[in-house]
Amino acid sequence: MATHPTAFTAVRARATVHGYPRQGPGRELKKAVEGYWAGRVDAAALHDTAAALRRDAWRRLADAGVHEVPTGDFSLYDHVLDTTVMVGAVPERHRAAVEADALDGYFAMARGTQQLPPLEMTKWFDTNYHYLVPELGPDTAFTADSTKQTGELGEALAQGHAARPVLVGPVTYLLLAKPAPGAPPGFQPLTLLDRLLPVYAEVLSDLRAAGAEWVQLDEPALVQDQPPAVLNAAARAYRELGGLADRPKLLAATYFDRVGDALPVLAKSPVEGLALDFTGPAAANLDALAAAGGLPGKRLIAGVIDGRNVWINDLERSLSTLATLLGLADRVDVAPSCSLLHVPLDATAERDVDPQVARWLAFARQKAEESVTLARGLNEGSDTIAPQLAANRSARASRAASALTRDPAVRARAAAVTAADARRPQPYAERAAAQRARLGLPLLPTTTIGSFPQTRELRTARADLRAGRIDATAYDERIATEIREVLAFQDKAGLDVLVHGEPERNDMVQYFAEQLTGYLATQHGWVQSYGTRYVRPPILAGDISRPEPMTVAWTAYAQSHTERPVKGMLTGPVTMLAWSFVRDDQPLADTARQVALALRDEVGDLEAAGTAVIQVDEPALRETLPLRTADRAEYLAWATEAFRLTTAGVRADTQIHTHMCYAEFGDIMAAIEQLDADVISLEAARSRMQVADELAAAGYAHAVGPGVYDIHSPRVPDVEEIAALLRKGLAAIPAERLWVNPDCGLKTRGWAEVRTSLEHLVEAAQRVRAERAGGQ
Ligand code: GLN
Ligand code: ZN
Repeated sequence: MATHPTAFTAVRARATVHGYPRQGPGRELKKAVEGYWAGRVDAAALHDTAAALRRDAWRRLADAGVHEVPTGDFSLYDHVLDTTVMVGAVPERHRAAVEADALDGYFAMARGTQQLPPLEMTKWFDTNYHYLVPELGPDTAFTADSTKQTGELGEALAQGHAARPVLVGPVTYLLLAKPAPGAPPGFQPLTLLDRLLPVYAEVLSDLRAAGAEWVQLDEPALVQDQPPAVLNAAARAYRELGGLADRPKLLAATYFDRVGDALPVLAKSPVEGLALDFTGPAAANLDALAAAGGLPGKRLIAGVIDGRNVWINDLERSLSTLATLLGLADRVDVAPSCSLLHVPLDATAERDVDPQVARWLAFARQKAEESVTLARGLNEGSDTIAPQLAANRSARASRAASALTRDPAVRARAAAVTAADARRPQPYAERAAAQRARLGLPLLPTTTIGSFPQTRELRTARADLRAGRIDATAYDERIATEIREVLAFQDKAGLDVLVHGEPERNDMVQYFAEQLTGYLATQHGWVQSYGTRYVRPPILAGDISRPEPMTVAWTAYAQSHTERPVKGMLTGPVTMLAWSFVRDDQPLADTARQVALALRDEVGDLEAAGTAVIQVDEPALRETLPLRTADRAEYLAWATEAFRLTTAGVRADTQIHTHMCYAEFGDIMAAIEQLDADVISLEAARSRMQVADELAAAGYAHAVGPGVYDIHSPRVPDVEEIAALLRKGLAAIPAERLWVNPDCGLKTRGWAEVRTSLEHLVEAAQRVRAERAGGQ
């Protein structure tokens, strides 16, 4: 039962973290790894840099009072790839490279070589971190290689730290894998569990020999709805690992959502400890744990601090959660909910953020400190942390009362939104007729998704502007020239609906965030997206408003250079949230509504300026789907409402487009319909138009542009290949509703291939139109 902490508590709470940002304060890791790729840094220097970064991170954690530091979470590229190496699951095609040189082979798996494609990359649960997908088949033979894990543990121990190795757990590892090329259809990597467990056993034994008291096995896959077969596999895995004679104490960790049905599985297993998330939707773990009778005899690492957002913790609330948890486990330690990989390193580095606002922020370093404060409060009583509690209370109060977070005009407007505001008054058929009359497009109209190649000249111009080498006028002249060239090309190539090419946008979220009130930019807030790619997500900190039009000037400029319609281009409200740090002091639905209203004003201004076609991109709609299916309906309801609120204020003859990437739309088909866009473009080239069939099967009745040019590859598709895809599309979607476009934006491509590919795309559309006219 809940006991209040006293100075006499027998087992003292410790502070720990599950993982820490890898890059170093000056992104030293990125520089070293990219230097190695370019041949400027040798392997020894790269390893030295990596070891120094680990040493500094551990020392920083220990100095802050963290009692047990994580090891093995560091990575030169990706921790899932490290796990692939640890279990010897190198794909056949990369084996020679790995045998020739382990480090070069590692990077070959990550990035591919001239001859060999890399491992596929995909999102790590619902974060913006991407991991390399293991490829496993019936022939996969696992072998243990614990050198990285034992090496890093050895370093930490030698530096005098109490350390806990952190590994991707065997069940999650298999669930994250995909069948290797050549595996029989329907092959499930989880069937390899019995082969994988002995390898984990060997690694555990090696870690024990290297001095590990505890080892953490991360099983975030268990916070997704899993069928009994998976839960049984987890039970078997932990029974078997727990039954080993020669092993360290085991701690099974879940995070990102509630542990649900997996709680009894892990609680009953012979592991000595569990780490659970108690933030966001995972706060439900508290009641679940109490209802299950707690974890008698086990250690609990309580993730009471949100490890993937940037706000200071509510320390008093956490203390009260921890006090309850004290009665539910043998020993309770304090930690952020998940690895701090997902947040920037240090909020105190942000010198340009208003000091009033900076007090509200906690990045990795501050979250470690918060863990220490809470552990101390738990051990020694809240009196001993009175100054920290007072500062925390005052910072939180200042946030709640700030004009940034409370703009009465924004709140009044959001409160006054009615269902009618989020519904276009005319049905699709009526809109389609009005748009046909206004736009006069041919059958199978051709268009692109928005961006054109971001050339070196454009990046240089942006860098020159930032460094003060050119002024705003000179920069704008560069952008204007680029827009004129992009339009001239499209006119000549014969595309039907043109774009301005987005040369002025560094990033599709940041560009808008910089112009909206309520968003903050960071200077050093880098977060790993994948490998050496880091992004600086903006912080959605306050009530959102749009002081001035954001895109109208360039769109109107572009339209003044062509007779054909130019599409206006906006990033949708869901994506504006998904690729930012969002506020945690109000429901996401409220935040989305504010962003939608700001974008709605932009849509209105574009329309008033004469823009007949407006595209609102929502590539993130599917990727932010909640992990638990029970939460999805609510999410999709507010997400689609926000999109409609953005777009529903236009006239019948203004055509609304939307765009999404990714190939699997099955789970959100109904939501796509709920968007009520006039035209949707989707990725489809690699799956040979499969999405067109899926949409048709679902009864989708609006216009569709399934991508016919795979922009993820430099390959130029030929005319007949595109025409064949179009004919395939026509088998599912009637010609009146089929658009012709690439899979996604062209910003990562080069001009040479883009030029020819788009010429082929236009020619393919003409060929198929002619076939229809000829009655074929
Ligand atoms: N309009 C954006 C572009 O063309 C869309 C990008 C995206 O979907 N990720 O770049
Ligand atoms: Zn896209």
